[in-house]
Amino acid sequence: MENIRINSCETHIYRALDEVTAKTESFPDMEKIHTEEELSTTCAYCTQPAIYVVSNR
Ligand SMILES: [Zn+2]
Repeated sequence: MENIRINSCETHIYRALDEVTAKTESFPDMEKIHTEEELSTTCAYCTQPAIYVVSNR
């Protein structure tokens, strides 16, 4: 199965969840980003810093 990871800010978390759900047809895994190296990650849908990463792990 294809591995999907989408970074998302607070605003776009539901969009990210929807997208992963639609692509994988299973419930996605959602993790809060808290490690230093990931703090500069930006949202896949806007320019805000990402707070969550949604994957199909
Ligand atoms: Zn966003």
